[in-house]
Amino acid sequence: MKLVWFRNDLRTGDHSALYSACQSNAGEGVLAVAAITPTQWFLQDESKCRVQFWLANLQSLSQQLSKLNIPLKIISVQRNEELPEAFLKLAREHQVRELYFNLEYPEYEQRRDSQVTALLQKQGVRCHSFDSDLILAPGSVLNQKGEAYRVFTPFSRVWRKQYLQQLPAPLPVPSVQLATSISPDELPKKINYANTSGAEWIIDLWPTGEDAARRQLLNFVAEKFAAYKEQRDMPGVEGTSVLSPYLSVGVLSSRQCIAALHAYSSAPDWFDSQWVTELIWREFYRHLLVLFPEMNRLKPFKPEVEAKIEWQANREIFTAWCQGETGFAIVDAGMKQLLATGWMHNRVRMITASFFTKLLRQDWRAGAEYFMRHLIDGDFASNLGGWQWSASVGADAAPYFRIFNPMRQAERFDAGGDYVSYWLPELKGLTAVQQHDPLFSVARGRPAPILDYRQARALSIETFNQR
Ligand code: FAD
Repeated sequence: MKLVWFRNDLRTGDHSALYSACQSNAGEGVLAVAAITPTQWFLQDESKCRVQFWLANLQSLSQQLSKLNIPLKIISVQRNEELPEAFLKLAREHQVRELYFNLEYPEYEQRRDSQVTALLQKQGVRCHSFDSDLILAPGSVLNQKGEAYRVFTPFSRVWRKQYLQQLPAPLPVPSVQLATSISPDELPKKINYANTSGAEWIIDLWPTGEDAARRQLLNFVAEKFAAYKEQRDMPGVEGTSVLSPYLSVGVLSSRQCIAALHAYSSAPDWFDSQWVTELIWREFYRHLLVLFPEMNRLKPFKPEVEAKIEWQANREIFTAWCQGETGFAIVDAGMKQLLATGWMHNRVRMITASFFTKLLRQDWRAGAEYFMRHLIDGDFASNLGGWQWSASVGADAAPYFRIFNPMRQAERFDAGGDYVSYWLPELKGLTAVQQHDPLFSVARGRPAPILDYRQARALSIETFNQR
């Protein structure tokens, strides 16, 4: 029997491990497994909506797999440390001779995998791993000296070149397998994820399953891609794909995204588009995690920059930021969006993170943890990358003097004040400038600004600039 282990790759299409197990199957049957690990989710800062979304997609995956005659078994434990024994038990029960899985790149997940595979291999089970979460594997995009890129632009140039040389096409859904006598497991009725934080998953925004994800992808490519470059920075307009939750739990792969764009876009320069660039950012951050492993331990990419900064740990300020009560309308609107939906627009992620690290001078690790505990698309590599970028301590990070001015950002990207008004309805009817003017906002019941922007900016530059 061949066993395929599903993690954050809850799909049957373009799934290298599943495809390979099915292709090489000489009639002995394919079994699937997923592990439910509530304490581990909490320890790794999973948000409530992401757990709910993951579970719902696991349920859909089980149905899809059943159509292929592949029963999904469920391992229920609390922590990763219990997995090796649980896998061994399952392997013995079903005469598993080979294990297939797609790699996950954070160190924590790599350790989990080596513990499981070490025990299984001792018992004679052969283990096969695949790079299915990335289009180009970590370590394959290097400079002429064979070193990893630390800067995004040359990385993306070489990435594009290699992509065009290989033209990696998504794998199809495998063919139906010979039926086995094993029945799939039901998902446990009660899974205790009460310790997780944040919003409930909103099914209308992100319905479950590969078909729903594909519909959203095709809709983006057909309807919104053409205006992406102009609209992607406007949080009040639905100008981005909002596919990140699907990519995060792997219902969709980035290879499928690029292939769909290629197939449906009539734009001649589709491959050089900004949207493909964003998908390359996703790859870049994963490559960095593998090639600079200290990042996994929350070390800054540029320790020399961080050495200059004494992060201010202030509980009251932290809470005001978390709750969207800083008195800076665009920052507060973003934090309210996160609290209500588990998602935040990229431009506003940058504004809120810059506000947190540069103006409040709070440690980026605290902001990153809070985001992970609330985001439906929480992703260790992209979140870490985004936060280190914002704090100017990351690879190819924003320069220290690039401090987002919330008022100016709102004027540029939410000029009509639509985004702010949606999340802070008490500011409806005001212009972006008025929404950020305490004379107007405080009169409408918003808190007074938590800091003086000019002073905070000057102090930040002085701190980051010291020798
Ligand atoms: P689109 O604009 O449609 O882009 C398509 C896909 O490309 C996204 O779904 C995503 O997978 C990828 N992508 C886009 N921008 C980036 C980026 N800057 N870095 C890496 N990948 C990108 N993204 C996450 O998926 N999970 C996170 O936990 C996360 N945390 C972030 C924290 C901070 C502080 C910042 C500044 C950014 C973070 N991002 C994170 C990146 C980005 O904000 C989201 O990927 C994006 O907003 C998702 O919306 P979308 O699907 O509409 O993106």
